Amino acid sequence: MAEYDLVVRDGQVIDGSGSTAVRADVAVNSGRISAIGRNLGRGRQEINAEGHVVTPGFIDGHTHMDAQLFWDSFGTPSVWHGVTTVVMGNCGFTIAPASSDNKHLVVRSIERAEDISGEAMAAGIDWTWSTFAEYLDAVDRRPKAINYAGYVGHSALRTWAMGERAFSETASEEDLAVMRRELTSALDAGAIGFSTSRTLHETMDDRPVASRLASWEEVVDLVGVLGQRGSGIFQLANEIAVGSSDPVIRQEASERLYQLAVSTRVPITFGVQPASSRHYLLDVAERAVRAGGAMFGQTHSRGICNVWSWATQTPFDQIPEWVELRSRPLGEQRQLLSDPAVRDLLVSATHYSNFGHSVGAEAPPPDYERLMLLDEPLPPHQTIADIARSEGLDPVEFIIQRGVETDFAQFYLQPLVPDTEDDLLTAMRHPLSVMTFSDSGAHVSQIVDSSIHTHLLGYWVRQRGIMTLEEAVRMITSVPASAFGFTDRGLVKEGLVADLNIIDPDTIGPAMPEIGHDLPSGACRLKQKSYGILATIVSGQIVTRDAEPTGSTPGHLLRGPFARSQMPSA
Ligand SMILES: [Zn+2]
Repeated sequence: MAEYDLVVRDGQVIDGSGSTAVRADVAVNSGRISAIGRNLGRGRQEINAEGHVVTPGFIDGHTHMDAQLFWDSFGTPSVWHGVTTVVMGNCGFTIAPASSDNKHLVVRSIERAEDISGEAMAAGIDWTWSTFAEYLDAVDRRPKAINYAGYVGHSALRTWAMGERAFSETASEEDLAVMRRELTSALDAGAIGFSTSRTLHETMDDRPVASRLASWEEVVDLVGVLGQRGSGIFQLANEIAVGSSDPVIRQEASERLYQLAVSTRVPITFGVQPASSRHYLLDVAERAVRAGGAMFGQTHSRGICNVWSWATQTPFDQIPEWVELRSRPLGEQRQLLSDPAVRDLLVSATHYSNFGHSVGAEAPPPDYERLMLLDEPLPPHQTIADIARSEGLDPVEFIIQRGVETDFAQFYLQPLVPDTEDDLLTAMRHPLSVMTFSDSGAHVSQIVDSSIHTHLLGYWVRQRGIMTLEEAVRMITSVPASAFGFTDRGLVKEGLVADLNIIDPDTIGPAMPEIGHDLPSGACRLKQKSYGILATIVSGQIVTRDAEPTGSTPGHLLRGPFARSQMPSA
């Protein structure tokens, strides 16, 4: 007779603490890890993990799955990369609180950043809530392969309190009282904290999103609600000033953040651009922690890159001479591009015309010395400038030629910030950082950063040999679990929730991106799967095999209050 629901047999167990791999069986009963050891009894279900590594499920603290989970029960693309728990609602972008009548107001703040149209959201979401608590109940009811925790977003709180005025006015004392009340009830219902954006996020018509109209005093007031409760994390997309090359501007903005952390004791977290002028935010975090505050940065394993293709968007799309061409079907574009006169005109237009306005992860004006051909999922990638030089072509001429030759299947990779590999590594290994800045569920046709976890394991561990598998696994399991307060997961340990991955360290890594047309209403997104994940398990149930969803949906909404954020020192 079977003793266990599931036994993962004979794997090398990397428990997520940083300890060395140990050969063992892992047994699961009732969704929890019930035994770890050699020659455990039989399971009703068994997985042979011989030659593989068993790790905790990966935890992603920076996602935007808030809308998507209503049409995608499996949590792609995160689940394709072994992620079993996500924190959503980052950067102030949530779809609650908002009544069905006013949903256009929250959609207006998020549709551009998430790159999911209002039409797709309308088609994919049965809008049954008004308050954030009602939204969480709706999330709770949805079938889910993975686990979700969520912030309540400032842009939504503002439109809830102020309606249209949220996009043009500072909040009155009355508006603030409404926001404080709804924030309190969101936290009561289990929100993990409060998030905002003070960066360049814009609406479709190039206006600031609602949270950007807030004064710093408004932010301080709302973070104060978390401070008084003694629970909840404050996440923000920082204002550009903190990355300024002018030390005075930088100092003023970071000092406010420091003061907020120290005076409220609320854990504060934000994305860190590793390039040196912004990396210094981690020094601010160190100072805040020394003074009794809590602050941690969110880092990236590859450096944030825009991925563009002819089938999605190109950096040339807003150049007047290109607009007409790009409005046509790809077959007609190929026809036109076979005419040397048309090509010459387009190439010269890129030298003299304006590239237009790009926001966030939208394709920026190309920097050919850093723009790369994405032919293999992991680096090194060749730059367009290098290839064009070696072929004696103008870079744009080469890009067009390559596009036509590949029938427009070619992908291109443009780093959005000038990080070097040393910058990335230093930031990733900083004791006050969590490698978690995937933005999964946002910028859906513009980036493929949901693969940061498999990139870490495939590139930095296997290909470069710069860190051990144990070190890397710790960075994406117990470290984020402690930072976000998930005390019942993030380790392979008896009694903890059985969220597990079974991976092949010799092959794990991202696959090439593909273009999918599977958003509601048929809109497209970039899809990137992975190699080397034999199975992913959530609460003891197998949710993917070879990274393909099995159809099982054992995931939960995780409700706070969560444990106080802990940053384990490196
Ligand atoms: Zn974000």
